[in-house]
Amino acid sequence: MVFYCQRHCYKKQYTTRVVSCKLAKLEVLVDGKKKKHDCYETIFEDTVLFPEGGGQPDDRGTVDGVNVLRVLRRGSEAVHYLEGPVKERATVTQYLDWTRRHDHMQQHSAQHLITAVTETLFGYATTSWYLAEMVSHIELNTEKVTQEEMLKIEETVNHHIREALPVSIVEYEASDPELKEIRTRGLPDDVCGPVRVVSIEGVDTNLCCGTHVSSLAHLQAIKLLHTERGKAKKTLLFFVAGDRLLRYFGSCVERERRFNTLLHSNPADHIRLVEKNQNSLKSAQKSLRDALKDLATFEAYKFLSQDPKPNLFFHHRRDGDLDYLGVIINEINDESVVKVLTAGEDKGPGSLLIHGPPPLVAQLAPRVCEILEGRGGGKTRFTGKVTRLGKRGEAEKYVRSFLENREAEG
Ligand SMILES: [Zn+2]
Repeated sequence: MVFYCQRHCYKKQYTTRVVSCKLAKLEVLVDGKKKKHDCYETIFEDTVLFPEGGGQPDDRGTVDGVNVLRVLRRGSEAVHYLEGPVKERATVTQYLDWTRRHDHMQQHSAQHLITAVTETLFGYATTSWYLAEMVSHIELNTEKVTQEEMLKIEETVNHHIREALPVSIVEYEASDPELKEIRTRGLPDDVCGPVRVVSIEGVDTNLCCGTHVSSLAHLQAIKLLHTERGKAKKTLLFFVAGDRLLRYFGSCVERERRFNTLLHSNPADHIRLVEKNQNSLKSAQKSLRDALKDLATFEAYKFLSQDPKPNLFFHHRRDGDLDYLGVIINEINDESVVKVLTAGEDKGPGSLLIHGPPPLVAQLAPRVCEILEGRGGGKTRFTGKVTRLGKRGEAEKYVRSFLENREAEG
């Protein structure tokens, strides 16, 4: 069936009758997790709300004040998932979320235009497309689209927008001989009943079930953003059109202004300054690593210079890391000394390194790791990732009493 929304793409409300309404479950995303949601599966005699199909997402809106959560196609029917019930056989008015729909119309018509122009200019066929939240793309049957080709496509589509070419939709019965005369693109489409042919005057004819702008002027402008390598030697071409383009440009300008403040410079200098900052950060990190290595050597030397040399060494450094702890062990270079070394913030995640006689490490390390609420492994050199370095006093107490008891027994 062809729905009211497909015949009247610019209508924002419609009065119709409820055919059926029953309690159902709908899978919805809440904070990135799928959840089953109680709702009312409702069929109307006809609908102003577009059911998902042909790459175009479904509409949102209300029916007599009740929110419409989703609209899906089932055979020739449009199934509406409502937040609350409506009375069967009642006359109701459907209201469309026009901002969302108008955006989808702009992206969808833009896709038809880009697809047609790309094929005419360079012979690259569109094999699929995806209307995303912010930036949509078409998948082209070619390994590469050059920068020059992209510029030519962008120039041509915007030229057609300035020409304000009309966009028309004509319905044909599937058996209509006239349909055979029309050269249409074979894009995947879930058409039921009459076939719809969407034409951009002089540019394109295409089978499609979607909703479209009535004139290319309503697209305002199209910006091609970039390409990416797709699957199976295909290329993805990313674009924004219409009001989205203004929103996208607005967010770029906002970002640019924040960079002006952060970098104390004008946009022409942004890249140079960020590169400069990254390089100086890299060299500062290298200096810090070198300094930590020197410090580790010094800590080992301090320990070794004690007389008599203790058989136990505890050490913690807040800004150290596993490499730093490893240097201490290498510099002390004595397996008979039990070393319990930690690095990191008291409340954040940190590193643990225990080194010493293997039988002792095997007995001590798992319990130390447990006290510090971490995980790890290793025989002579036990390495662990821990989460509660603030409890290292407790761990030290345990190690000392363990070794004392052992000595007393020995
Ligand atoms: Zn289409």
